[in-house]
Amino acid sequence: MKKKRHFKHLPLLFVLAVLIPSVFLSIIAIRAASQEEASIERGLQRSLDAELTSTVSVVRAELGRMETELMNSSPKDFSEDPAVVFHQWKDRSNLVRIPFLLSANFEILWPRLDASPSADDMAFLNWNRDFVTDRAAIPYYQNIAFLYKDQLNEEGADLDSFKTGLVKETAEAEQKPGKVVGRMSAAQPAVAKSHVGDEAAAERPKTEELQVQQRAMEQFEKDKRFREKVFDVAEQKGQKAEPRTVTPTTSSDPEERTNAEPQRSIFISEPKKFSDITSDKDSGIFPRFIEEKLTLMFWRRSPGGQIIGCVLGDDEFRARLLSLLPDVYSPARILTILNENGHPLLTPEEDSMGQRDWRFPFAAREISEILPRWEAAAYLSDPDIISSRAHTTRLILWVLIAIFFLSIMTGGFYVLRSLRSEMALALQKTTFVANVSHELKTPLTSIRMFAEMLKERRQPDREKQEKYLGLMVSETDRLTRLINNVLDFSKMEKGKRDYKIKRLDAAFLVEDMVESQRIRLEHNGFSIACNNDMGQMWVDGDEEALKQAVLNLLSNAEKYSSSDRSIDVEITGTEDRVLINIKDRGIGISPAEAKKIFREFYRADESLTSKVRGSGLGLTISQRIIQDHGGDIRHIPREGGGSIFQLSLPRKGRS
Ligand code: ADP
Repeated sequence: MKKKRHFKHLPLLFVLAVLIPSVFLSIIAIRAASQEEASIERGLQRSLDAELTSTVSVVRAELGRMETELMNSSPKDFSEDPAVVFHQWKDRSNLVRIPFLLSANFEILWPRLDASPSADDMAFLNWNRDFVTDRAAIPYYQNIAFLYKDQLNEEGADLDSFKTGLVKETAEAEQKPGKVVGRMSAAQPAVAKSHVGDEAAAERPKTEELQVQQRAMEQFEKDKRFREKVFDVAEQKGQKAEPRTVTPTTSSDPEERTNAEPQRSIFISEPKKFSDITSDKDSGIFPRFIEEKLTLMFWRRSPGGQIIGCVLGDDEFRARLLSLLPDVYSPARILTILNENGHPLLTPEEDSMGQRDWRFPFAAREISEILPRWEAAAYLSDPDIISSRAHTTRLILWVLIAIFFLSIMTGGFYVLRSLRSEMALALQKTTFVANVSHELKTPLTSIRMFAEMLKERRQPDREKQEKYLGLMVSETDRLTRLINNVLDFSKMEKGKRDYKIKRLDAAFLVEDMVESQRIRLEHNGFSIACNNDMGQMWVDGDEEALKQAVLNLLSNAEKYSSSDRSIDVEITGTEDRVLINIKDRGIGISPAEAKKIFREFYRADESLTSKVRGSGLGLTISQRIIQDHGGDIRHIPREGGGSIFQLSLPRKGRS
């Protein structure tokens, strides 16, 4: 019973120590595998975004350089004819396309209609006359994040109070026209200085300002709710947020793409007259859309208050920006700059416009308030790259999970199996010690009892005295057999048992053993018969060992008997084998038990062993002895109940 209880914990141990942890680990691994696509997507997005950010800062730096170049090269002295001066300016910088000169009161001094204007000059006057003379306003672009950077930088800013605060300030500002709007005033000069300044100041704060601007952008991008509020406030103040020309999306599904919500540009515009644009700084570049085409205008105030400026050459500034682009193609992605119409500045050869939809980049960044609607955009060369990469990684992960799970389960199974058999063996050894002690004690007790009786002459009856002596001898035999079994077993375990082999008659040996046991068996109510229809049966063997093997079988026939106490020993054989069948009508052995009875220490179930004592070594030893003689023992269920143990040995000639 105890044995059963021990083993009951093993499946529980298996579940707790092996099954649950491996299922748990497998679930984690499976979850990681299923999120693989998203994580590859995030990784790609991060790396492309980093590339875009650096592209954007390179372009911005170039815009700054262009402004410096125009400022340095712009004419300082207008005592000469403007036509000559401007011609020289064009020679000094090929960014200059249409130069112009305004008085401090915004009167056009150049180009002049009476000085044979070129076609460019005419076009300039046509498009810009009202604007440069300060009669009409144009949309002026500013970075919303930078405009509201003070609010954005306040950690945990209270959105509602921020919003109402700004609306109130807007109302106040409207009552005092001309003044820069409320809380914007702090940001405004800084914005202005970002692409303006006198020559010395222009260089120094530029990188610093870029950093501030970048921080403000990060803040702005971080909090979507806050972003929405800022846009709302900007709109209430009449600042216009146009939709971006692209919709960055990771999806390659056309339907999902068209449903993707268009984002608002961070470069918001509000109408401004030239006097507003030039009011608080000395120079600058700003964009101007003419028939939906972006042109850039440079201006600078001269010490006399005049305004010198130019329209930049389109091809030149576009070419300069293009030259800054990193490798447009890499095996994984295409990185390009899209212009105001959403077309790439450089069309990749293998991607004719028809094939790729430039509106849906994998990642994109707006560039600058000087280049509104322009985007630095990155596209995956192969749109299926993510899913195919994820597929491969998932496959590998699944195979690994399967191998991992299988090896844990197999390992666990084998560990438990060996644990189980080790435990069973340990238990059998303990039972063995208990059984052997009992086996030793029982005959010793009776020998001592009879010996004392005879010594004290308490039994005068001669016949009884003889009987006691006989019992003492048979008990001594039992003891000897048990001790021999134990000793032989330990010798066999160490591989030390020596046999004294000689040619002997197995039939005689068996008959002799039966006769030696007959008196005792008959005394105990058994009938024993020995049939030999073969005569002498010669074998090569160790007499004592073979006797021990037969004796163990006879003793078992006696021990595991039932009400029918008859034992038949049959000596038979073939030309080359000697067969000895020891048949009983005892309790029999079930087929399941029959497989185990030859194992060391194995004894049939507890209820049996409680009645019949034994060491579990008898059959083990008998089988080893017979196998060492080139034979074998097998168990055959006997028809009509009981068992047959068949002992077979190689048959030899007489000498
Ligand atoms: P022991 O008899 O000391 O227990 P054995 O190795 O001789 O050890 O026998 C192993 C087991 O085989 C016994 O416990 C018993 O259950 C079974 N067995 C052996 N011989 C017989 C038999 N003749 N009839 C029924 N069961 C037997």
